[in-house]
Amino acid sequence: MVCNMYGMSFYLLRIYCRRGHEIRCVQRRILLETLANELPGDTIRYSSKVVSIDGSGYLKLVHLSDGLILKAKVLIGCDGVNSAVAKWLGFKMPALVGRSAIRGSVYYEHSHGFEPKSLRYFDEGVRFGVVPCNDTSIYWFFTFSSSSQNEEMEESSAKMKQFVLGKLGKIPDNMRAVIEKTELDDIILSPLTFRPPWEILWGSISKTNVCVAGDAFHPMTPDIGQGGCAALEDGVILARCLGEALRDKQGMSSEEEYKRIEMGLQSYARERRWRAFELISTAHMVGYIQQSNGRVLNFLRNRVLATFLARLPLKIASYDCGKLRAS
Ligand SMILES: Cc1cc2nc3c(=O)[nH]c(=O)nc-3n(C[C@H](O)[C@H](O)[C@H](O)COP(=O)(O)OP(=O)(O)OC[C@H]3O[C@@H](n4cnc5c(N)ncnc54)[C@H](O)[C@@H]3O)c2cc1C
Repeated sequence: MVCNMYGMSFYLLRIYCRRGHEIRCVQRRILLETLANELPGDTIRYSSKVVSIDGSGYLKLVHLSDGLILKAKVLIGCDGVNSAVAKWLGFKMPALVGRSAIRGSVYYEHSHGFEPKSLRYFDEGVRFGVVPCNDTSIYWFFTFSSSSQNEEMEESSAKMKQFVLGKLGKIPDNMRAVIEKTELDDIILSPLTFRPPWEILWGSISKTNVCVAGDAFHPMTPDIGQGGCAALEDGVILARCLGEALRDKQGMSSEEEYKRIEMGLQSYARERRWRAFELISTAHMVGYIQQSNGRVLNFLRNRVLATFLARLPLKIASYDCGKLRAS
């Protein structure tokens, strides 16, 4: 639903939408803990910064900042936007898009009183959204064209909060109260980056026994809220491709295993290339239209494209990455 309140345009997306769509707010900490709990106790090594990668026969040598060298039969880089593994594969650093996001989480002792709806507001050059996660917590975001103020703000959450409150102008009191109630420790500023989609088309998503997944593979602007979701899709498809490649591996030589891993990663790259291209391109286009200034674009956005723009994120989220078999 799109409406005009206080002279500004709002989207209202029901958290439980029609046509089977459902928007869920998942806290990063809870997602990470849930995934980690599925693994045997000593699988994860924390605080290990990868500084370089090189090869030794069928293994990759992963050099950590503390001097330790890990030997890997397969190296999957899920090391975020500034990925060392993506660099090794030949990708450039993601490009800045000239916009930034300030995000926050607010926690209430009792119910916050918001309905389970995601509320989006957009105006010339800014977007603001409030998403109730459950009865007692709310996530909000504010994206804006980056300016010289960014540097000043980076050092102070108080300045970020002040900036958002100043830019929002006249909005409903309960929405303003969400920002006001946010603790300074729960506010973060991030410059927005993306990998130009054509780099995804001709770049190496995998090479020998190395590949990338998540933001290391397809950093995108957050305009359709799909970056983290796409990382989960990658995980399912990668696990399936590697699982199939290594099925019945008993008695297999190191060379055969290496070749099978290489083929498994190649089929993962084939399956994900166009999906990543589509997600990055759509996010960039939506962000461009929603945050642009100018009479024509404002008119198109608010009067012609509003419903289309509200539905697009839901449409693109409808993607079936298939199932994983337990054995
Ligand atoms: C403003 C904003 C809003 C967003 N909103 C949404 C949304 O609504 N929905 C959605 O699905 N997604 C959203 N995203 C995107 C989502 O946050 C990312 O896509 C997701 O976090 C990517 O996960 P990742 O595991 O690939 O990378 P990250 O979460 O960045 O994790 C990378 C990990 O690698 C580690 N690392 C980095 N470098 C090294 C190194 N050299 N050695 C070892 N470890 C390293 C880091 O410490 C980190 O733990 C948003 C992003 C932004 C910026």
